[in-house]
Amino acid sequence: MANIGFIGLGNMGGPMAANLAKAGHQVKAFDLSTEALDKAVQAGCMKVENALEAIQEAEFVISMLPAGKHVHSLFISSEVPLFDHIPTGALVIDSSTIEADVARSIAHVANERNIEFIDAPVSGGVGGAQAGTLAFMVGAEKPQFEKALPILECMGKNIFHAGDHGAGQIAKACNNMMLAILMAGTCEALNMGMKNGLDPAVLSDIMKQSSGNNWALQVYNPVPGVMENVPSSNNYQGGFMVDLMFKDLGLAMNLSQLSSSPTPMGSAARGLFNLHKEQGNGQLDFSSLINLYQEK
Ligand code: NAD
Repeated sequence: MANIGFIGLGNMGGPMAANLAKAGHQVKAFDLSTEALDKAVQAGCMKVENALEAIQEAEFVISMLPAGKHVHSLFISSEVPLFDHIPTGALVIDSSTIEADVARSIAHVANERNIEFIDAPVSGGVGGAQAGTLAFMVGAEKPQFEKALPILECMGKNIFHAGDHGAGQIAKACNNMMLAILMAGTCEALNMGMKNGLDPAVLSDIMKQSSGNNWALQVYNPVPGVMENVPSSNNYQGGFMVDLMFKDLGLAMNLSQLSSSPTPMGSAARGLFNLHKEQGNGQLDFSSLINLYQEK
């Protein structure tokens, strides 16, 4: 069993660290939020006082932070940059969703300092993190991917080697742009059905068995009460925050700009999530987008 330092125990990192502990690994966990830290300790992780303590004697260091600036700061530019203290031979796995070029540049700095750093963002939501069924999209050299595999398998079901450093983040940006488009389309269709007198549960069943079927309808219905154990049935708490979806759409737009890839649908979805965020919904789950349609 491995010594693992885990930093960032939020909606996703908390259950991911818990699954590593459940698999028998020794997980030294740290988060700036004491509430998040306490939950991880209840789930079998070891409490430490700071990130530096979390990586002592670690064979693997895993980060699950909000955005690129947090990851860059943690490893390179904070007062105590972890890259100054990574134990020899440890593999650093960043599972946060961040800019592909930031992931590549951190990997480059790591490489110059003889540290191994890979990007391994995830998909599957909080439900997937809790169930240990996440999809991992890994950007790494082949031997690094193989080294990470047994650890990632404790937290996920489908582990993909997307390509070299940064490739995991490119795959993730493509996937989340698609997810935003699908969620916006699902909200739009359900709202139109409801406004025309249909029961959203019946309409959801019809579309799930028809050509409009998609992930949002299958496991993440945005209308409260249609599905149990989803954020919409819990006042849009937990899950995947609008702020984070908006960030991910920014990453997709950046990639589109850099590669001259046309993304009119992604850009429309970004506009919708921006409006919803600006109306004060940034901390709600992203399926709350349906309120943007309903409250007008
Ligand atoms: P979150 O905001 O719930 O958790 C982030 C955690 O990081 C917080 O607990 C925060 O206190 C902690 N943190 C921030 N800076 C820190 C630091 N310097 N040291 C220690 N802890 C620090 O976010 P989340 O939903 O868990 O998402 C994390 C990442 O995963 C994001 O990049 C997000 O885009 C991605 N993601 C989220 C989902 C989802 O469904 N929530 C799905 C796939 C990917």
